[in-house]
Amino acid sequence: MNKWARVINVDGFPPLQEIRDECWNCGAHGNLETHHAFFGTADRENSKLLGLTVKLCPYCHRNQPYGIHGGNIELDKRLKQAAQRHVEEYFSHEFFFNIFLNDYLN
Ligand SMILES: [Zn+2]
Ligand SMILES: [Zn+2]
Repeated sequence: MNKWARVINVDGFPPLQEIRDECWNCGAHGNLETHHAFFGTADRENSKLLGLTVKLCPYCHRNQPYGIHGGNIELDKRLKQAAQRHVEEYFSHEFFFNIFLNDYLN
């Protein structure tokens, strides 16, 4: 676990996606998969810890080239930006940057 996430109490921080029964991207229902906004070993853990996951339908998740893991860079960036904004509104830019070591809004 990241040292920054450990020193700050994340209880009460609202999840990135409140409505969990529809695809974050297209609104489809049923057969949804959990996607971590930031992936890769450490980022995935921190995404999980901070509730930075969304539900995606298989198409938006894995389809090539429209899915987020299928090369849809625009969708990936849009989700990462939404997640960063969400964290920064509640905590701070410094908090986000020290955990994910990246600034997706610039
Ligand atoms: Zn979808
Ligand atoms: Zn995923």
